[in-house]
Amino acid sequence: MQGTPASFEDNAAQAVADAQLQRALTNVKRGFIAKRADARARLPEFDELCVEASRIKDHTLAHLDLYLEAYEQRVSESGGHVHYAPTPEDARDIVLRLCGEADARLITKAKSMVSEEIGLHAALTAAGIETVETDLGEYVIQIRKETPSHIVAPIIHLNKEQIAQDFARVHRSLPADRPLDTVQDLVAEARAVLRQKFVDADVGITGANLLVAETGSSVIVTNEGNGDLTQALPRMHIVIASIEKLVPTLEDACTILRVLARSATGQEITSYTTFATGPRRPEDPDGPESYHVILLDNGRSEMLGGDFHAMLRCIRCGACLNHCPVYGAIGGHAYGALYPGPMGAVLTPALFGLESSRDLPNASSFCGRCEEVCPMHIPLPDLMRRWRERDFARKLPPFPQRLALKLWAYAAKRPRLYHRLSGLVMPFLGRLGRGRGRFHSLPFLHAWTDTRDLPAPEGKTFRQLFARQRRGARP
Ligand code: SF4
Repeated sequence: MQGTPASFEDNAAQAVADAQLQRALTNVKRGFIAKRADARARLPEFDELCVEASRIKDHTLAHLDLYLEAYEQRVSESGGHVHYAPTPEDARDIVLRLCGEADARLITKAKSMVSEEIGLHAALTAAGIETVETDLGEYVIQIRKETPSHIVAPIIHLNKEQIAQDFARVHRSLPADRPLDTVQDLVAEARAVLRQKFVDADVGITGANLLVAETGSSVIVTNEGNGDLTQALPRMHIVIASIEKLVPTLEDACTILRVLARSATGQEITSYTTFATGPRRPEDPDGPESYHVILLDNGRSEMLGGDFHAMLRCIRCGACLNHCPVYGAIGGHAYGALYPGPMGAVLTPALFGLESSRDLPNASSFCGRCEEVCPMHIPLPDLMRRWRERDFARKLPPFPQRLALKLWAYAAKRPRLYHRLSGLVMPFLGRLGRGRGRFHSLPFLHAWTDTRDLPAPEGKTFRQLFARQRRGARP
């Protein structure tokens, strides 16, 4: 199921009714949450590291212009090139130009949400260039023509039987009766298919978890080693990353990497943590002949210093998704956006506009779990609330909803009126619900009562009960 943010309500209803998806989502709860908790418990200084990681990002963002200059300087000194791309279109044009210069026919890709953000795959395909995702999950997503459903585990919504069917459908040159029953079978087949692509690729495109201003290095973390092969074997290596990925020093990068792996997968460190600095030097045994870094803005510089500045600290660990009850109920595709869950509910309107994604910041119970587990201390509920305020100010909600909110706000700002009104409504609701204990359906509240019961009030407001108790307690 693939939708758009604008069809969120329908997407969510379908996701809740999808039994296979619901089974798959239990893996998020069982796996990621427990592993993160274990990793945190094993490192007593974890919380201090998170504070330090947030401080590093805040410092970098406060001096981003200086660190961008320093990074560009170091990349140039090591023989690479930095390209600035204000918009996704600019980034796509730069990639296509570089691929043209390299006479590229085949591209391998690894670990890049930003390339999804700029719609790179479609642009390369339109230009007649074959592009192969090399992360196993991303590869499966590619052959299914889907988008990732989780920023760390893109195929968390699938089971191995579905992937076996996809492999049987796509890998037609292999014997039809080969075994595809176990995870090992599937991994071995993907490895065999992808191995030749790594060898034949003209250009390798990777994202970056971090960019280090001190050395001009790009850093990626993977658990499959596909990032290393993607950047070391082809003639050209292109890194596509957004500007907020910068950190000042290697030591800063290491601090964030310690927090990232534990928050994402519960690992102490990911299996492959790779630093790439410029093209191959004469004494190097391998590496690309040319090295390019494309730095994407796409609205991020407008976030700097504004209401959503804190979101630029995000390191894409996915912890907020894993702990979110909404994500846990509907999965990633229901959001209809590249970045799902609480982080996506803040980021998507900033990058792609509130008009097309206004349901996402509203898709939160505001339980606060996302903020609690976020290693970068991003106040996600508060940022979602700010989008809700803008949503209301721009008159995007339907008129009845805006009217109801206006009336509520009018009464809530006038305590006497509020208490008078609630004093009238509560006895009425109490009488209506008497004997039943719960409402199974209420006008204007059907979105809630269609799927859950609403406890009936007792008939008196809290203040009335409190006042009665105090009167009774007096001597
Ligand atoms: S918002 Fe926080 S928890 Fe969510 S992905 Fe970003 S860093 Fe991780």
